[in-house]
Amino acid sequence: MSFSNLGLRAELLRAVDEQGYSTPTPIQRQAIPAVLQGGDLLASAQTGTGKTAGFTLPLLQRLADGPRPKARQVRALILAPTRELAAQIGDNIQAYGRYIPLRSHVIFGGVGQQPQVDAIRPGLDILIATPGRLLDLHQQRHVDLSQVETLVLDEADRMLDMGFIHDIRKVLRLLPEKRQNLLFSATFSTEIQALAGKLLNDPTLIEV
Ligand code: AMP
Repeated sequence: MSFSNLGLRAELLRAVDEQGYSTPTPIQRQAIPAVLQGGDLLASAQTGTGKTAGFTLPLLQRLADGPRPKARQVRALILAPTRELAAQIGDNIQAYGRYIPLRSHVIFGGVGQQPQVDAIRPGLDILIATPGRLLDLHQQRHVDLSQVETLVLDEADRMLDMGFIHDIRKVLRLLPEKRQNLLFSATFSTEIQALAGKLLNDPTLIEV
């Protein structure tokens, strides 16, 4: 099994090859075709399993074909619990997407917001965010979430542990009804199951 069997386009295969990856990990083998199909996904996966490439590669491919975002619009929203994880996802997207002309940006709290506002203004294909800063910028009308096509919740269990459930619920209310949802969590508490039940439509289930 190689990456070229998973339905990824040449620009992504080239970037993956340059990362030095020769074989997809188990979660990548399962997640990449499922996400390419456009359906929802519920995946239990720890850090280190290759989960980030598992959702970013097919996400980049789906976004590559669609219309460009208009001012302040976002086409894919990735929520992460910490600035470190958000930055890491952003770095991976830069690396895997180097041959695809998409705009992505990472935002998180604790730093000045003006550079973030400036980055969002022309519109973004992918916004990677921690929930609090995203809501702050939305409240000030610096970001338009009405056209989000795909939502990713990464390390959802950690987001709930850190008390982000109310922020997540607020974000969900700002998104269009019809969209793709991908939920990643290392554990499946009753809270995560409740969130998954509310969020996901007939999801593909992946456990690694
Ligand atoms: P993640 O679980 O997404 O945090 O990824 C863990 C690490 O595995 C990262 O450093 C990736 O660069 C690396 N990685 C992801 N996919 C592969 C792969 N198919 N082959 C080798 N390394 C990989």
